[in-house]
Amino acid sequence: MLMYHRVSECPAGSRHPEITVAPQRFAEQLAMLRALDCTLVPLSTYLAYRRGEGALPPRAVVVTFDDGYLDNYATAFPILREFGAGATIFLVSSLLGGTNVWDPDEPQTPLMGTCHVREMQRAGIDFQSHTATHARLTALAPACALRELAESRDALAQLLGAPVRAVAYPWGAHDETVQRLAEDAGYEAATIVRRRVNFDDTPPFALRRIGVWRSTTVARLAWDILRLRWRGA
Ligand SMILES: [Zn+2]
Repeated sequence: MLMYHRVSECPAGSRHPEITVAPQRFAEQLAMLRALDCTLVPLSTYLAYRRGEGALPPRAVVVTFDDGYLDNYATAFPILREFGAGATIFLVSSLLGGTNVWDPDEPQTPLMGTCHVREMQRAGIDFQSHTATHARLTALAPACALRELAESRDALAQLLGAPVRAVAYPWGAHDETVQRLAEDAGYEAATIVRRRVNFDDTPPFALRRIGVWRSTTVARLAWDILRLRWRGA
């Protein structure tokens, strides 16, 4: 499972340019995955497999994006379509059409709005939760963390007309309490950031994702994918 954020030319003035992958590099990474006979599937396909409701194609790779930046629609979406690739985007439910206000020191960057989400959903892109406000769940009282998780799940389910089954913990911040709260909020899985593949017995509330950064070369990603072997997504 791979974790991207932005796909764009490097934003001027950013303190965290690493989260922005150049469009050309992104296309080269997808081409490399195709050359390795990988099938890019959305998280929903992997979760159905974990529920025993469907098969996974060989060499399944789940491509995910955190935060729901507008460039996911404007730049990544056409490239994903070109490759016939499935993907999952984790949305901050109260900030659709807004900006990345959770990071006030960064240049404010537009997030996609509901019309973008609906268009991508019709084209097969999968959407899941990244909480209501991009809250650091480990820093909140349990009742507040539960509200972040539950409100986001309800709002997105209403927007999508479909169940929202997974949450990506903002900043990857999680502990045992947060994992339990995610389950209490009605999710069936959650993702963290860890450079490992997922196995059939990987805990569902700590599914691993390999971060792909601006500095991640195609060769480096290929090496990771091959080295980590194929027993999961
Ligand atoms: Zn995030």
